[in-house]
Amino acid sequence: MKTSIATVSLSGSLTEKLAAIQAAGYDGIEIFEQDFIAFDGAPRDVGRMVRDHGLEITLFQPFRDFEGLPEPYRTKAFDRAMRKFDLMAELGTDLVLFCSSCHPRALGGIDRAADDFAALGERAAKRGMRVGYEALAWGKHVDDHRDAWEIVRRANHPNIGLILDSFHTLGRGIDPETIRRIPGDKIFFVQLADAPKIDMDLLYWSRHFRNMPGEGDLPVTDFMRAVMATGYSGPISLEIFNDQFRGGSTTGVARDGYRSLIALMDDVRRAEPSLALDLDPIPARVPTQGVAFVEFATRGDEARALERQLATLGFARAGSHVNKAVTLWQQGDIRIVVNEETEGHAGASYNARGTTVCDIGLSVTDAAATVARARALGTEAFSQATGPGELDIPAIRGNSGSVLHFIDPASGLDRVWEVEFGATARPTGAGLTRIDHLAQTMSYEDMLGWTLFYTSLFEMRKSPMVDVFDPDGLVRSQVVEAPDGALRVTLNGADSHRTLAGRFLSDSFGASVQHIALATDDIFATCETLAGQGFEPLVMPQNYYDDLAARFDIAPELLARMQALNILYDADERGTYFQCYSRAFAGGLFFEIVERAPAYVGFGAPNAPFRIAAQKRASRAKGIPAR
Ligand code: MG
Ligand code: MG
Repeated sequence: MKTSIATVSLSGSLTEKLAAIQAAGYDGIEIFEQDFIAFDGAPRDVGRMVRDHGLEITLFQPFRDFEGLPEPYRTKAFDRAMRKFDLMAELGTDLVLFCSSCHPRALGGIDRAADDFAALGERAAKRGMRVGYEALAWGKHVDDHRDAWEIVRRANHPNIGLILDSFHTLGRGIDPETIRRIPGDKIFFVQLADAPKIDMDLLYWSRHFRNMPGEGDLPVTDFMRAVMATGYSGPISLEIFNDQFRGGSTTGVARDGYRSLIALMDDVRRAEPSLALDLDPIPARVPTQGVAFVEFATRGDEARALERQLATLGFARAGSHVNKAVTLWQQGDIRIVVNEETEGHAGASYNARGTTVCDIGLSVTDAAATVARARALGTEAFSQATGPGELDIPAIRGNSGSVLHFIDPASGLDRVWEVEFGATARPTGAGLTRIDHLAQTMSYEDMLGWTLFYTSLFEMRKSPMVDVFDPDGLVRSQVVEAPDGALRVTLNGADSHRTLAGRFLSDSFGASVQHIALATDDIFATCETLAGQGFEPLVMPQNYYDDLAARFDIAPELLARMQALNILYDADERGTYFQCYSRAFAGGLFFEIVERAPAYVGFGAPNAPFRIAAQKRASRAKGIPAR
């Protein structure tokens, strides 16, 4: 099965796009005329350049406003088509997309359109060209693939076929099951795009908000299952118009697209086991059992400050690495690794960002299979030389230069703490038991890519995006989580450097973990213990508790206890959530302590504006710029 992407999906010059498309692993491209209008070279040179990158031109597009026209427009449309066939011959491609007409003079009539395509098919055949007809969701007379198919069927010409586009079918709410009635050999090409569910004008939605399959809310898998059931064997191609992608990283968006296609086709293969698909099987999405460790790259005074922070949170130093300047801090099932190495990934991360989370370890059932799936999805494996007595733990590079390690019990990799750190005890400290969630901050442009990263590799689902109000701007937040809540990650996208998240981002040079939430079964007992050992919570103001008293029915004694310990509160119909934040350290990192009633599914989002305002107040009080 060939993979392809439309050049309009990416930012940059044609040369940059081709390099990124080749590097991501695609077989071909859909080319738009505007791509080489700006390019200083003849169409023949463009074609050669594409092939020099090991790519083929799978489709030339678009040709607009062809069918159903009265004279003299009809003759002009045919003349225009002949010139495009000449251009295609120079480029070295034989397939062109004709989209359904939006011409104000188009007459309509299935047979009139079919006659036009039959006549066009004759001329195309003489030049060895094929024409695919696509129903635009906003076409004047044809806006449904079923009508486009009827036109192609009646045109009855071997050089005339149908082009399906998941956006045009699903965006109009047309049942994709209707595709199963179309013979696969009459489908010349398939374009794929997803989109977030937003109620807006179809054309505007299509031109600005399309995204990669799996990044939006449309049932693209159902669409593709129906396509593959027809026996279709042509390319699958991404055609994504998205404002963020047009301004985003060329290589990053190309890689995300490839990842989305491979994950989609794997889902199709699993959902339609009786179809013999031309696909290499890849390991299934990986269930995760939670965060095995969080590793900080740090050094010197900053390392001592981090260790003091950990000690006041009830962590104990549980071991030191056999070969490296790395220590393990533990409490319950939470492991924090403090890495002061000046070489390798940790050293490089510290040099680039200062104290930062440089590595996340996840517990999985099969670490090797996790890396195998990640690699099939176009993710780079990560490895570093191992010293004597060290285990070789499988790892990958995540987005934005991050690293993830995978630990499983089957291969004995979960013995790493004992083997490399000599750690045998399991300190209980102040009652913190496990990591409830990790919060990653990134620029808004990077959010979709991170969501796809998690949901394509792991058994995780995404929640709808919500807005969090920082006094200085907006932060968008999305949750990805394992079905049982064993792993929860909140992704926060900042688009203003004045927001707390935005400042953290500009100071840390790219996406990274900004806060780590630690779970306790009794937040009052934990916070009282911590208060006795010097833990400094983020101080919440009186008006926060006044607001709580107004919004919830909380007993006055409980409210007083919460206020005394700076504990925040939220509740939904399923349960309650208590939170307490640490002061920020090392450029805006912080910890959160949470007690979650099992059924409560949120993250205290209503409290975020209060928390952000309190953090900004705290940093102003310390005389340092708000972070
Ligand atoms: Mg299309
Ligand atoms: Mg949180």
